[in-house]
Amino acid sequence: MCVPGASTWDTDSARSTAACWSPCSTDRRSSARCVTASRCTSAWPRLHAPSPHSTSAIPGRTRLRQPRRRSACRRATRQHGLRHFSPPSTGTLHEPPSSAPDTAFRFLPALHPPDEAPRAALWFPFRGDRLLVRVASERATLLDYAELVALGTDFERAHYLGRLDDLDCYTVELDPIVEPPAETVLEGLRALYGRLADEHYSIAGRAVQILLWDQTHRFCGRCGQPTANAPAERAKLCPSCGLLSFPRLSPAVIMLVQRGDEFLLARNRAFAEGFYSVLAGFVEPGESLEEAVAREVREEVDLELKDVRYFGSQPWPFPHSLMIGFTAHYASGQIRPQTEEIAEAAWFNRHGELPRLPGKLSIARRLIDWFLTESPSRKS
Ligand SMILES: [Zn+2]
Repeated sequence: MCVPGASTWDTDSARSTAACWSPCSTDRRSSARCVTASRCTSAWPRLHAPSPHSTSAIPGRTRLRQPRRRSACRRATRQHGLRHFSPPSTGTLHEPPSSAPDTAFRFLPALHPPDEAPRAALWFPFRGDRLLVRVASERATLLDYAELVALGTDFERAHYLGRLDDLDCYTVELDPIVEPPAETVLEGLRALYGRLADEHYSIAGRAVQILLWDQTHRFCGRCGQPTANAPAERAKLCPSCGLLSFPRLSPAVIMLVQRGDEFLLARNRAFAEGFYSVLAGFVEPGESLEEAVAREVREEVDLELKDVRYFGSQPWPFPHSLMIGFTAHYASGQIRPQTEEIAEAAWFNRHGELPRLPGKLSIARRLIDWFLTESPSRKS
């Protein structure tokens, strides 16, 4: 089988890159190659408390003026396509206007920062799957660059994400020993929903998945060699066997099944008593999304469907799912829950009393709200 992109990869460059960058960029402190890596990683933001005698917040940039180290860094940046990367020294918070369009159309993902002079930026610092945010009342906001510098720590990992309007976006993984300063907390994304600006929340979901992928793909899954960042796409490339490993995504279908004025809800055995949702399940290799919808409903409640239609999708970074929503009409069968997974399942009338439902964060709730308020059968 052909590995996409492998035929264009320079093998010698890849080997050199792996020796210079990859082992230490993921775990600099434990590698014997750290002397080399400390030069190379100067190209990435290494945050320390700024010197009162310098306007530069990044000592690494000062060290780059020494010819020998500059050479090492240029070699690394050339191999990684990171030319001219200079982390911006200022950061701003960006509050969306009330009529802001969908973030998906405003955020432009990119692999490398632009060549032009550094601009204001948004920073998404994670420790594990928790984002470091400033909190005031119920509201959470991103830290700016100066606040990250004040942490006085190096980053374990750093990635450029792209641009939101005129703001470059970066994500970094904080050292495990970093403790949140006053008025900040490390918070999981579920808990930040509705508290962080929507556009920042969306980018944070992207960021945490990229950091997780970087952390878990340091070695080739086929031959075990250390991987390197591919030069032109968000992928890890094995310099030994050419295997490309992209950020992991696990597609899952989620579906609202309707029967006239009724719709199907089920209580998974893992749910709390009285809590119901629509059915969902992961897509299996070799099946279409529509086939996955039909299979999941057949497996979980033994019903047959018709008119399966796409509804919408939602990134679900817990840890790396993509939820793909569908509506469908009941075709035949009697509800027979698969008891290992489903505790109860029943038809609920849109005009009757409803059980406790998923929160607004989820596409499950969007599907249910659509049926309750906007579906064509209600209007007819
Ligand atoms: Zn390999």
